Amino acid sequence: MGIFAEISSQQHLQRQLHQLAYYDALTGLPNRQLFYDRIGQVIVHAKRDGSGFAILFIDLDRFKDINDSLGHSFGDKLLQAAACRIKSVVRETDTVSRLGGDEFTILLSETGSERDVAAIASSIVQSSEIPLDVDGRKIYLTASVGIARYPNDGRDVDMLVKSADAAMYRAKREGRNRYCFFTSELNVQVLERLSMEGALRTSLKGEGLYMVWQPQVRLVDGEVIGLEALARWRHPHQGEVAPVQFIPLAEEAGLMPELGNWVFEAAAAGAVALAGICRRRPLNLGVNISASQLFQGEALKRNILDTLERTGLGMECFELELSESTLMNRGRSSSAILGELRRLGLQITVDDFGTSFSKLSCLKQLAVQRVKIDHGLIRDLAEDAVSRQLVAAIIQMAHSLDIRVSAEGVETDEQRSILLQLGCDEGQGVLFGEPMDLSALIGQLSL
Ligand code: C2E
Ligand code: MG
Ligand code: MG
Repeated sequence: MGIFAEISSQQHLQRQLHQLAYYDALTGLPNRQLFYDRIGQVIVHAKRDGSGFAILFIDLDRFKDINDSLGHSFGDKLLQAAACRIKSVVRETDTVSRLGGDEFTILLSETGSERDVAAIASSIVQSSEIPLDVDGRKIYLTASVGIARYPNDGRDVDMLVKSADAAMYRAKREGRNRYCFFTSELNVQVLERLSMEGALRTSLKGEGLYMVWQPQVRLVDGEVIGLEALARWRHPHQGEVAPVQFIPLAEEAGLMPELGNWVFEAAAAGAVALAGICRRRPLNLGVNISASQLFQGEALKRNILDTLERTGLGMECFELELSESTLMNRGRSSSAILGELRRLGLQITVDDFGTSFSKLSCLKQLAVQRVKIDHGLIRDLAEDAVSRQLVAAIIQMAHSLDIRVSAEGVETDEQRSILLQLGCDEGQGVLFGEPMDLSALIGQLSL
């Protein structure tokens, strides 16, 4: 009896372990691991009997907004409801899994024609016309779906998954709430992205990345009061790649922590070099921090502290530039890290201000010291009365909260004098100096 009880409790334990390892706790659906395993098995079958199958990537549209505004426990229930709905659309034999977050997948084994797959994808998209009922609230939740088919769009698990993901992103780009098949044109993009990721990874270990610096001036007298560190990447074959391209690439490839470390290291090295050369009081150094870096939490803080300790630089040298959208979308743990960094003496600047809606209370909460008005608003300052009114309002609002205001992308004298009239404190842009390397900077600005 004893042995029997032992065995059955072990079996129970094993079942529980299996459930934990292969199923998502929230929805009870297979998880990423099991989904990948199943595709692997289906590929073996398909190879043997020459059949095909399809995988669908489903991403809920704007789920994050709902999660942020209605709370996480509501978001959890909504995910459960969405999971039920997706399951109700497919056959018993198809595997619906949850990859994590608001991402679901379907493995359609034994699919017939492209039309059959399209019909299923279409019924998923159409099912969002009926609202989901959670806690008595009716929520309309649409989804974007990407489809990849074996063997045309990929012959192994990795390639199939990448293809379905690329098709899903295309559905998002084309306006969400729709499905897209993977195409050969997307195939070129996927391969290109893989190769760019590889090149960036190599550059992070060796050469290709470098830093340029752009002066930030006080508008009344033109005095240089700070520098912004801007990363540059020279691709071994394609030449210069703009940061607006390689930063998102690094984010997607999970390279941002590494790139962020490189940036901070390079910024600190620049600060040390400058301190040795220029006689003037230390300049403020602005370092850009992206959303995924903030997500690193403790690791980001540790990296900053380590670098400062190693170089002997003070906290007050550095200013972290976080874009308005990064700040507004941050989670609770990111807020805590930012608060700690702020208390340690690092300054916080809101970058690209005026591009999205800010909760003004958040400026106060984080004790932000500076906002940089996005150059989209500065560009039309001379011609467009609305831009002028917006900039004037931002300056007044910021000043009433004791926050300094800088203007980005100042290109003309006219813009500069309008900004001065409106009471703007600082400016940055080609009118005062382009981003340049340290030696050019020292020569040109006689620092
Ligand atoms: P940002 O932080 O808002 O940087 C200002 C951008 O405006 C820079 O573009 C700069 O070269 C450009 N700019 C400077 N003067 C003018 C001007 O007179 N007119 C106009 N139209 N533009 C001007 P850049 O260097 O291409 O960087 C683009 C964005 O990439 C940055 O925007 C920042 O968000 C991101 N980035 C750059 N370096 C880093 C980095 O090291 N780490 C992170 N996380 N992001 C970075
Ligand atoms: Mg910036
Ligand atoms: Mg900016």
